[in-house]
Amino acid sequence: MSLQIFNTLSREKEIFEPINEGEVGLYTCGPTVYNHLHIGNWRAYIFADLLKRYLQYKKYNVKHIMNITDVEDKIIREVKSQNKSLEELTEFYTDEFFKDRDLLNILPADIYTKATDYINEMVVIIQTLIDKGYAYKSEDGSVYFDIYKDKEYGKLSHFKLSDLKENADGRMKRDEYEKDNTEDFALWKAWVPEDGNVFWETALGKGRPGWHIECSAMSMKNLGESFDIHTGGVDNIFPHHENEIAQSECATGKNFAKYFMHNEHLLVDGIKMAKSAGNFYTLEDIIKKGIDPIAFRLWLYTSNYSTRTNFTITSVIGAQTALMRLREAFLALGEDVGVVNMEYKARFIEYLDNNLDSPQALALVWELLKNTNISIKDKRATILNFDKVLGFGLDKIQKEIIPDEINKLAEEREKAREKKDWAKSDEIRNKINNLGYEVKDTESGSKISKL
Ligand code: AMP
Ligand code: ZN
Repeated sequence: MSLQIFNTLSREKEIFEPINEGEVGLYTCGPTVYNHLHIGNWRAYIFADLLKRYLQYKKYNVKHIMNITDVEDKIIREVKSQNKSLEELTEFYTDEFFKDRDLLNILPADIYTKATDYINEMVVIIQTLIDKGYAYKSEDGSVYFDIYKDKEYGKLSHFKLSDLKENADGRMKRDEYEKDNTEDFALWKAWVPEDGNVFWETALGKGRPGWHIECSAMSMKNLGESFDIHTGGVDNIFPHHENEIAQSECATGKNFAKYFMHNEHLLVDGIKMAKSAGNFYTLEDIIKKGIDPIAFRLWLYTSNYSTRTNFTITSVIGAQTALMRLREAFLALGEDVGVVNMEYKARFIEYLDNNLDSPQALALVWELLKNTNISIKDKRATILNFDKVLGFGLDKIQKEIIPDEINKLAEEREKAREKKDWAKSDEIRNKINNLGYEVKDTESGSKISKL
């Protein structure tokens, strides 16, 4: 069976054929570390994790690179407003990123590349582009990529330069802009006083790189000039990935990434979740509402990565209940591990081979749990096998046995709460605490755990 993935370059589902047999070079555009990520961002990384896990499941040797954008317009703004050094700010948020990654059970990339460690590589690519006539230096010392020199510009976002009105001498200094902005984009930004002490003295002059060149330098240095799969959210298609392709291919004369895969957005009331829209939740926000990060992961699987999904707390609370049921059902399968059921495994592969059809794969897990013709130890083996891809971390969960005495106290407390007898409810809570347990009231009911 062959894996088929939707390639944004062709706008078609294609059979995945790696450049080198058995090996996959995978690059994921990582976070810009100037504040906490929101769960829309995490959709992009959970999608990349599902893809990577599945490629590994299919026995590919995957080399996964993720960048950490630690110099960019928004970061510089934040550095100034918080009066911190670039390193102080970006290192703090990089650590926060790693903590949340682990809570979501996302496998670490093989290498996390910091943009500021690749300034030399960026300068070399920019110099090559100047030498080849694709880039030019402006009066202020910034370097721009001349999009009209690249005959293939627009091949990812599927628009033709010839259809657009040329904007004479238009130049785009910002990193983010709309598809109908046909300006040349900045490869190197000459220092301006607002940049403070964020600059590098290089052969190109005093300044800093543009955002797009960062990913070209980091991906090609670690995966080669041509590599297999590049991922990101759909908002990365233009301008970021379009520009990455342009500058990389014009510099090397070779194809850049063979497949581009993009996850669709997480929406709130039909609008993209974004910091700028103010409609976002961080992982911590949902944890505070009693939602396990893995429940968010499970919830995401209920729609394909390539479809837009509307986020509501209620639907994720539903996923939290489903996760609890899944964990209980898994624990009820006992300790013995039998053999993987080949019929179910074949179906699991069939679904995921179809552009990572996670809703079907997830439904199969429930179907398997209900199937009474398969022994519990074989079920356990099969579920553990599937979990290598799904990443719920079932191999790590253990039964937490809550003593009867504690359960009874919790029930009494619940009754007191129903009667709005808060004094009694607090008294019982203290009793529970004194016995080494705690009870938390969440939107999905109260939960008892060891202190
Ligand atoms: P950024 O830090 O803005 O570059 O975003 C990091 C990743 O999250 C990129 O791959 C974005 O495309 C992706 N992303 C941003 N917002 C959303 C969203 N609402 N839903 C899904 N992915 C998103
Ligand atoms: Zn990138």
